[in-house]
Amino acid sequence: MSQRPQHNANNVTDTHLVIVGTGFAGLGMAIRLKEMGIDDFIIIERASDVGGTWRDNRYPGAACDVPSHLYSFSFEPNTEWSRVYPTQPELEAYLQNVTDKWNLRPHIRFSHTLTAAHYQQDSGHWLVKTSGGDFRARFVVCGNGGLAEPKLPDIPGVENFGGHHFHSATWDHNYSLDGKRVAVIGTGASAIQFVPQIADKPAKLSVFQRTPNWILPRHDRAYRRFEKWLFKRLPITRKLLRAKIYCQNEMRVLGMVLHPALMKLFRITATWNIRRQVADPSLRKSLTPTFPIGCKRILISNDWYPALQKPNVEVETSGIQEITSTSIISKDGSEREVDCIIFGTGFYATENPIATMIHGRDGRVLADVWADGEEAYLGSSVHGFPNFFFIVGPNVTLGHSSMVYMIETQIAAISRVLEAANEVSSTTVEVREEVQDTYNRELQTRLGGSVWANGCDSWYKHRSGKITQLWPGFTFSFRRRNRDFKQSDYIFATPSTEATQ
Ligand code: NAP
Repeated sequence: MSQRPQHNANNVTDTHLVIVGTGFAGLGMAIRLKEMGIDDFIIIERASDVGGTWRDNRYPGAACDVPSHLYSFSFEPNTEWSRVYPTQPELEAYLQNVTDKWNLRPHIRFSHTLTAAHYQQDSGHWLVKTSGGDFRARFVVCGNGGLAEPKLPDIPGVENFGGHHFHSATWDHNYSLDGKRVAVIGTGASAIQFVPQIADKPAKLSVFQRTPNWILPRHDRAYRRFEKWLFKRLPITRKLLRAKIYCQNEMRVLGMVLHPALMKLFRITATWNIRRQVADPSLRKSLTPTFPIGCKRILISNDWYPALQKPNVEVETSGIQEITSTSIISKDGSEREVDCIIFGTGFYATENPIATMIHGRDGRVLADVWADGEEAYLGSSVHGFPNFFFIVGPNVTLGHSSMVYMIETQIAAISRVLEAANEVSSTTVEVREEVQDTYNRELQTRLGGSVWANGCDSWYKHRSGKITQLWPGFTFSFRRRNRDFKQSDYIFATPSTEATQ
């Protein structure tokens, strides 16, 4: 397994394993393979450099709202984080450094966009088609990210707008907002970060809010030189800080899943946060959510409310009726001529377009299998799709802590399945249907009593209403569940032979 990928007669590159994406998930998986002594793998990446979310989302003010010392690989600590919350450039640089340190670039095929993946039943391989060439692999690990495909709103006329426009995830840094009439559609995690950064530039900035969010203060600050020195010289101090952040975040699960009444404490803080920052009662009312706190992602910011009260900024809350070639018409009949629209309208989270490209056993298309809402076993394996694994697949996202922890958990779990397949000399491994079903029934029962279930719409939910994104519990219980690996949960086989387990 340590040999290098080979071209065969059909100009298809043979390799043991293909990884999709070079974010935390893809890079972490590649590092684990190297640790396992597997060198025969390819990483396909549609962009020209690594970084995933943290390469794409370069809008002004982009930062993570999980503290840096937790939002990083446990095995690659960084004592030099400049702030409590890492900024996009820092995270991108961190991932580039990790890539170079582990010498992953020779494995990466940049500008290779996945176009299709077909399971070949006769041989148990996957044919992975990309814009840059095709690969034949025994295994595929998809680390393409749950929030990778920017979504434009389904507002009538949106396609007719003739002015400048871009999405927060594809920010146009060459376009000057100075003196322009700018509209921002959306008031989610991305918009509350970029609006304060750009608010002073346009002559007029109209923020179109469909649903206000609950916002808590952001306790951010730069780390002092002395602290960084301490993290470096006394690693226990960094480890203790990481453990403290981890435990504080896990406490939120008590309110989000186990006792939603506890969320009142957050509601009191968020309500105080609006009161102290927004003086005008009518604006305050329109910025105060009516849904239970935590139902949608809780946001953190100190500069969102002040930005909305600048003299050149207005908040429009009546809803958008239509977009014309030059303007936005609101449901109250008012019309605003604008030069530029910035869409802070989120991503295809629940219906990830990549599922339309994945063809499993008997030609079944993953998007069809997931028509009523995505599901998998432990967020990784889907019955009918042997040798195919997701990182950050269904029901792995968190409303309370670091996705890097979940990613590391899944990488370890996938490695265990790969090792088990190797040990029993099987060429295919597939989760049993009844195991996947039982797991998902249990998840949905637990999610039914959570704060996310009732009172709001969110990207955590499929259009059927099923919560397909979130893990309903502590992150350590997800890890424990993954560690309790049972070989009997999977069917190990070699094509044209009986299953071995
Ligand atoms: P988002 O949270 O999904 O927010 C999208 C916004 O667009 C919402 O305000 C939504 O309103 C609005 N919208 C969507 N369709 C609309 C329509 N047709 N008409 C009017 N408004 C519409 O997207 P995001 O802000 O890009 O964030 C996505 C996720 O990325 C976050 O939840 C978070 O997990 C992650 N993220 C994290 C960070 C961070 O760590 N700080 C930063 C950015 C993003 P409704 O609420 O009414 O649907």
